[in-house]
Amino acid sequence: MNGLARKGLWKHRTPPYGYTREIPTEDGGVIYLDVPQIVPEQVAIIKRIEELYLSGQSMRGIAVMLNLDKTPPPIGSAWSAASVTNIMHNPFYCGWIVWGLRRNQKVYDPKTMRFVTRGVPVPAYATMLASQVRRPTLDDFLAHRDILVADGVVIEKGQHEPICTEERRRQIDREIEARLLGTGRGASTSAALPRLFTGLMKCAECGSTMYPRANKNGRIYYCCSRYREGACKTGVTVREDDILKDVEVVIHNFITPGAIDQYLDARAEQDLTGIQDAIHSTSQALKTLSGRRARWDTAYEGEVIDLQTYGQKLSELEMEHERLQKTLMNLQKQVAFQQNHKERREQLLHSAETFPALTTKNRATVKQRLRTLIQCIIIDSGKIVEIKFFQ
Ligand SMILES: [Zn+2]
Repeated sequence: MNGLARKGLWKHRTPPYGYTREIPTEDGGVIYLDVPQIVPEQVAIIKRIEELYLSGQSMRGIAVMLNLDKTPPPIGSAWSAASVTNIMHNPFYCGWIVWGLRRNQKVYDPKTMRFVTRGVPVPAYATMLASQVRRPTLDDFLAHRDILVADGVVIEKGQHEPICTEERRRQIDREIEARLLGTGRGASTSAALPRLFTGLMKCAECGSTMYPRANKNGRIYYCCSRYREGACKTGVTVREDDILKDVEVVIHNFITPGAIDQYLDARAEQDLTGIQDAIHSTSQALKTLSGRRARWDTAYEGEVIDLQTYGQKLSELEMEHERLQKTLMNLQKQVAFQQNHKERREQLLHSAETFPALTTKNRATVKQRLRTLIQCIIIDSGKIVEIKFFQ
C-alpha cells in the first residue's frame, strides 16, 4: 500500500491543492499520472497565501480575502481558516511526501451502536502530537522521522515538482511558531509582549500562581491569583523588569557547571529507577489487557453477551490499550532523555551563560530560556525569596 509513496509517488486519486494527476485524453477519457503535475492558477494562489501570511495576515483574514476575490476554494463552497491552515502546514509543497500518519480503524460508536471506520493517528504520531502544542513543522517530521517510519509512516522526498523551497517552508514555520509565542508580525499588540514569567511565579503566602497583568503604559506586573477573590492577604505586586534583573543575577551566580552536574546526577539516579518501574508496570498492564480481550471474545462467541455489549467492551479496551501504549512510549522517551546527559549538560550551561546577553528585543527567547533554567520563583511581599532551578 505504501509502496508508491515510498518511491516518492502519490497514490491518492486527489493530490493536494495546487496539483493534479488527471490528464484528459483526446477521446474524452482521463489518464492518471503517478507524479502529480502543477496547476499554475492554483500555485499562484498558494504563493499569494504565503505572501499574505508572511506580511502579517491571519489565516482567517486570508480566507476572507480569498472569498471576497471569488477565488474557487479547494473543497466546499468557500475558503475557511482551516483550508488555509492546511495549505500552510503541508510539507508536500516543499517536495516532501508524508504519508500514513493516520490509519483507518474500526471503532465502536455508542451513539449509532455500530462499528465505524475512523482515521486514528498511528501510535508514534499520537505520541508526537501529545508532546507539542502546535501542528508539526517540516523539521518536526524530520526530527521524528525514525520513530514515525518504524510505525509505518512514509516520509520521503517526492518526485513531484515542489512549489517552494525548504528554506521558505521553514521561514513560514518560524512565523507560525512566533505568532504562537505572541511575537511575529501578525501578533496583536497586547500579545506582542510575551509575559516572561507566566506560570513560573508563586505566592509565598498562599502557594498559588501569580498572574501577569499589564497597566496602561504597557508595564507588566504580577499579582497573586487568589488575592482578588479575597482568598489571599498579599496583594503586593511585583514588576516584571525588577524581577528579571534579580533573576539575571541569580542565574549568573548559581547556575554553575557544578550545580548543573549535581542536578543532572540526582535526577538521573532518582528518575531512572522510577521510570523503569513505570515501564515494567505499564507492560504488565498491557499483557493483562490482552487476557481481558480474550475473555470478552470467548464470552461473545459463547453468546453470553450480545454484540452491543461486546462492541462497547472492545472500544473500552482499545482506548485503554492506546492510553497505555502512549504512556509506554513517553516513558521510553524519558529514558532516552536521561541518557542524553552530556548533551543536556551543555544545553543548560549554554542557556545559563548566554542568558545575560539576551536583550529585551528577544523576549520570546528569554521566555523560553527562563523555562529551561527555572522551575519556579517564590515571591514574598514583593521580593524573591526562593528560586527552584531547572524544569
Ligand atoms: Zn497568595
